[in-house]
Amino acid sequence: MTANLLDFDLEGLATFCAGLGEKRFRATQLFRWIHQKGASRFGEMTDLARSLREKLEGSARIEGLPLISQHISSDGTIKWLFDVGDGNAVESVFIPEADRGTLCVSSQAGCAVGCRFCSTGHQGFSRNLSSGEILAQLWFAEHFLRGHLKTDGERVISNVVMMGMGEPLQNYGALVPALKVMLDDHGYGLSRRRVTVSTSGVVPMIDRLGEDCPVALAVSLHAPNDELRDKLIPLNRKYPIAELLDACNRYLEHAPRDFITFEYCMLDGVNDLPQHAHELARLVQTHGGRGVSCKLNLIPFNPFPASGLLRSPQHRVQAFAKILSDAGIVTTVRKTRGDDIDAACGQLAGDVKDRTRVDRRIAQQRTVMLRPVPADTTREA
Ligand code: SAH
Ligand code: SF4
Repeated sequence: MTANLLDFDLEGLATFCAGLGEKRFRATQLFRWIHQKGASRFGEMTDLARSLREKLEGSARIEGLPLISQHISSDGTIKWLFDVGDGNAVESVFIPEADRGTLCVSSQAGCAVGCRFCSTGHQGFSRNLSSGEILAQLWFAEHFLRGHLKTDGERVISNVVMMGMGEPLQNYGALVPALKVMLDDHGYGLSRRRVTVSTSGVVPMIDRLGEDCPVALAVSLHAPNDELRDKLIPLNRKYPIAELLDACNRYLEHAPRDFITFEYCMLDGVNDLPQHAHELARLVQTHGGRGVSCKLNLIPFNPFPASGLLRSPQHRVQAFAKILSDAGIVTTVRKTRGDDIDAACGQLAGDVKDRTRVDRRIAQQRTVMLRPVPADTTREA
């Protein structure tokens, strides 16, 4: 089996090229062809010596993920479903806004954490994605969008959030090289603050990420006390809130001018009452004596039947936000995007074990543009 070059960060590619007897600057050239220009064939790489291209043909490949479907929402949000084999699929979502383009990326097929309110969690865990499979989502989306939006080669994706399917910090070994490619000036050149890892709270890995690659950190809090958080996020029994917030403060030592974004999914009658807001404000402002430097992002719950939970009414979300703002905490309420194509947070199910069901569901959606596109022609659309 040849090596898939999407699996390598620049260091890894340099090592691979050294094995072929090639100098480091060749690796840099190759890396730029792949990530900056979106090349998938060595024949396109006209400034590489023919001898190197021939060596690469025999030992390497650049292979994205087969695309199963693409849905474009009426608000411009685009969702892609990629095949990762064995009946599993993962989803990526592009969210255009006036001042940025955000790609939401998956890190695992399924998830082992099993949060009550998350449809990926209800699906169970299938497997970790490789670095190449994580990056293939960005590689495909960026180069597809440049063609689709006719940007003349200008970059479209300015932000990446690891908020698709899976718990990124339970796939740490594959995550970090993928993040490095996102940040690399020869790769996607994204700034550290525009790449966000979202975690349900894998404390030891928060510490390692701080050491290895301190990108922006979002922590899915969802409850102001352990009793409630235990019920929503099973991982809380292993890493309770106090330990999690300590890890957040240690993380900020690596990125002193940063803040943690706490995500809080608003569940009707469960965690959305005024008493919860007051308790939450107290928690993040007093933990460890000095509190945690943070922003709060309230997420409207995206309901799915198996959860048995409901979305908080709008007035309760507003009242909750006001209590936090009045306490001096920067609080935002997330806009729901791509609702008509099931592209919002926690709706990413991606399970194609039963393709007939998925096809039927897709056929029922309104603004669907379903194109089962063969992998090698996808970037021409
Ligand atoms: N595993 C990571 C990242 C993926 S989930 C994590 O849990 O942080 C990304 C965000 O979506 C998390 O904040 C998660 O709590 C939230 N989420 C999950 N299911 C949701 C749902 N049904 N409605 C709204 N937000 C949800
Ligand atoms: Fe996994 Fe995050 Fe979903 Fe929890 S919310 S089950 S950690 S993907």
